Amino acid sequence: MTTTLQPLRPTPKAGLLDIAAYVPGKEHAHGVAKVYKLSSNETPLGPSQHAVEAFAAAAANLEIYPDGQAMALKEAIAEVHGLNTANILCGNGSDELLGLLCQTYLSPGDEAVYTEHGFMVYKIYIMAAGGTPIVARERDEMAEVDAILAAVTPRTKIVFLANPNNPTGTYLPFEEVRRLHAGLPKHVLLVLDAAYAEYVRRNDYESGMELVSSFENVVMTRTFSKIYGLAGLRIGWMFAPTHVVDALNRIRGPFNMNSAAIKAGAAAIRDRAHVDRTVAFNDEWREWLTAELTALGLRVTPSVANFVLVHFPEAASKSAAAADEYLTSKGYILRRVTGYGFPNALRLTIGSEEANRGVVAALSEFLK
Ligand code: PMP
Repeated sequence: MTTTLQPLRPTPKAGLLDIAAYVPGKEHAHGVAKVYKLSSNETPLGPSQHAVEAFAAAAANLEIYPDGQAMALKEAIAEVHGLNTANILCGNGSDELLGLLCQTYLSPGDEAVYTEHGFMVYKIYIMAAGGTPIVARERDEMAEVDAILAAVTPRTKIVFLANPNNPTGTYLPFEEVRRLHAGLPKHVLLVLDAAYAEYVRRNDYESGMELVSSFENVVMTRTFSKIYGLAGLRIGWMFAPTHVVDALNRIRGPFNMNSAAIKAGAAAIRDRAHVDRTVAFNDEWREWLTAELTALGLRVTPSVANFVLVHFPEAASKSAAAADEYLTSKGYILRRVTGYGFPNALRLTIGSEEANRGVVAALSEFLK
């Protein structure tokens, strides 16, 4: 019998405890009559009524396993976006798909690149797969193609680009995304995270479907958590070459999509009128909030998504931390973004008319 010294309890694999757990947006404010949660980019208009009905109907058969292929959901996505179901994979939120991509393509020692103010979940999944996160600098709160390409080394396996990005709300015009792709070696996977794509109304924006269709090394992820108002059900999807879908299918949970999510998601994406209403509402109030906050003397990063990044004055009494405390005491919960490299900014989700007017009034009081 060998007597190698063993730890006295199970130990996570090397590197795992170096990962800082994701901190979600705050949910609660104590001692206030009404709370406005503007910290997680949820839609104030809620989901389509058809989705709510489909969810309720799913309660009739909870003893039955869901379809492991989530075909009804894939068919609805394929129909709406004009895609082939063979190129679609659904996930328990797009978060799950981002994690599966890392598990599939990163071995210990491999590198994956994302940008300075990019979505924080990338780092968690890169490290969980044993990979090394590499951060490319941004300029003017915007991803910069040359910096990303300069960060690519022979060990790079994945490049993540959130477009539009969270928490900045900025986007790269499609010509720039194309230039990024053109500069990458063929074996590097470009992951275009288009969680907020449905909100963008710009002629020079594309979510990346055409690139996915044309090349073997591009995937695009989407979510039902934002414009479709189904964050609570956890539904994401990916449009990808079949070889990528095949690889991820081998390691995902066999029933990773629950039956309520499949039914409600399919109903939600077919309700195009609800999407149009939500986009119009968001456009109107994002513009209003940007104008009002700017008039208060705050700098607002120009956003194309359903949130804005608001920068605060240097004075400690008027800082983002102080504003956060004040707003929370009034029931307005925004998102601190220190972990994203913005210690003196707050991210504000476009809320209901009442919430938007209320938060501006409260900030006006705070800044006096
Ligand atoms: N990507 C980006 C850029 C996001 O902001 C979010 C939501 N915070 C996600 C992905 C994940 O969304 P979900 O897992 O809810 O689909």
